[in-house]
Amino acid sequence: MTTAHPWACAALSAPFCVALSVALLGPGTAAAAEPPAARDSAADGSPDCVYHSAQWDVVKKRNTNGILVHKPYAQVTDDERDPADRRCTVCRGDQTRIDPKRLGLAKLGGFSVCWAYAQQVEKALETIAKAGDFDLKAVVGYRPGRTRGAVVDGKRTQWSNHSFGTAIDLNAFANGLHASCNVSQATPATVKRCKLRIGGAWDPEGRPRLTVTAASSPYRAFAPFWKWGGEISGDIKDFMHFSISGY
Ligand SMILES: [Zn+2]
Repeated sequence: MTTAHPWACAALSAPFCVALSVALLGPGTAAAAEPPAARDSAADGSPDCVYHSAQWDVVKKRNTNGILVHKPYAQVTDDERDPADRRCTVCRGDQTRIDPKRLGLAKLGGFSVCWAYAQQVEKALETIAKAGDFDLKAVVGYRPGRTRGAVVDGKRTQWSNHSFGTAIDLNAFANGLHASCNVSQATPATVKRCKLRIGGAWDPEGRPRLTVTAASSPYRAFAPFWKWGGEISGDIKDFMHFSISGY
């Protein structure tokens, strides 16, 4: 057995599950399978939750209302946890730093994801590095911000999935978010009619080594555990994006 299956941990007792996960890690992978031991701490040693966040202003088209939150971890609210995976929060201390250089991607800078997905994300990057068919130049993972959902006073009110470290963007400059894009299958012909909103144009034929498609190594690497924003239903296609729900 070389891969961990989602059902394995649900079916096994927790200590055995952790041991199994560790045993399945190959050399060179070291991301924690447990919550970070050294969360941000208060003076008395109790864990704290610290994060920066902002709100997207739909009129000015930029982030605004930046705040720094610092409070006891015990006061993390339901709203500050990922509704799709309660283990992941907006707190910086629940994120694990990923170092792509250690995984064969020498030119890529570091980023963070929720600790619960760090091993799978590292394995995905290794898969992309080994495939050698894709130039991964830019990654965004954890980034708290209210950039979705209902607009109140011109500002978005709902956390993006990046806020919990449960989403990743790959090469945004070549895999833009498109609106008016209710296509059953993303192809150069169908996406030509969509409207580019964020990031760069999606051109798999012109820039095959930069573009995420269902046939690319990033898809094969991430699709086993996260959904691709390029094949979610509805008007939006977010070609740079992988997350628990794809949104
Ligand atoms: Zn994204």
